[in-house]
Amino acid sequence: MKITAALLEAHGHQRPYDTSRPLSIEEVELAPPGPTEVLVALEAAGICHSDLSVIDGTRPRPVPMVLGHEGAGRVVEVGAEVAGGVDGVRFGDRVVMTLLPRCGRCAGCATEGIRPCVPGSASNAEGTLLAGGRRLAWRPQAQLGLTPVHHHLGVSAFATYAVVDARSLVVVEDDIPPAVAALLGCAVLTGGGAVLNAGRPKPGERLAVVGLGGVGMSAVLTAAGLGDVSVTGIDPVAAKRDQARHLGAHAEAAPEAAEMGAFDVVIEAAGTARAFETAYRLLAPGGRLVTVGLPAPDATARSRRWIWSPAGARSLAATSARPCPPATSRDSHAGGARDGCASRS
Ligand SMILES: [Zn+2]
Ligand SMILES: [Zn+2]
Repeated sequence: MKITAALLEAHGHQRPYDTSRPLSIEEVELAPPGPTEVLVALEAAGICHSDLSVIDGTRPRPVPMVLGHEGAGRVVEVGAEVAGGVDGVRFGDRVVMTLLPRCGRCAGCATEGIRPCVPGSASNAEGTLLAGGRRLAWRPQAQLGLTPVHHHLGVSAFATYAVVDARSLVVVEDDIPPAVAALLGCAVLTGGGAVLNAGRPKPGERLAVVGLGGVGMSAVLTAAGLGDVSVTGIDPVAAKRDQARHLGAHAEAAPEAAEMGAFDVVIEAAGTARAFETAYRLLAPGGRLVTVGLPAPDATARSRRWIWSPAGARSLAATSARPCPPATSRDSHAGGARDGCASRS
């Protein structure tokens, strides 16, 4: 079938992107779903910093590629095995598309979300779906034949339709607005996972979030929903700090005004060396630092005792294909503000 999609043909466009226009809206061919795959009619998709990192080449991916890795929609066609029930996905389900498929059989999947799925990571790097191969193809103007187009993190949500492996999907309720459901696929999964799976604050502990974009706001929302953890939002932008208070943070501060050495858990969600350095300085002795920002590969953070580079780092928090719903909390009063974590940065 023919779909409309936002295609990245090459890396290296200069900012501002409203002038250089790195993405073009193209008519793209979409093959039918394979046995473990489904066809999703997209309802909403979010733009994440990781999309921008592919565009500017910070995170090189094969091109041409249809970007977009947090999306929500409805299943309108199912592959042969899905019809028999793969991961509980059925025709007509509303689904969230997540950035890392989970095969359920490998050594990574056996760690319950602590380590990423091995074949899922490999297919994401190759720009294919989990079962292998690509379902997208496009005819460049200067050529007669179709050129294969890569999938972004098994999703490619900047499109009218997407073929996705059922193991890249999570079924959600019909009453979640599309724009909110889409955020569950990356921002909420990453920020919420950083709190619940990695930081794991105990009752009475103090938690700080450095960087209040979509991921950081999701961490604030998740931690505030626990009900028995003190949450502080930290960002240079006052309007973002106000939004963090709106989402349930008990305090907020600019980075230079934050209380150093005072927090049991610090979540770094900005992806810059400076934010990492701030996050480290906020830690109380014995505290836990969780970093889920994606810094440039050549970024280097410094302290009096160490130099840290992302080359050897791995994000531990955002590895689950089961996004943490906002109601997953010790006292479940986080749900009311769930539609407030979209970042406008
Ligand atoms: Zn993302
Ligand atoms: Zn796996």
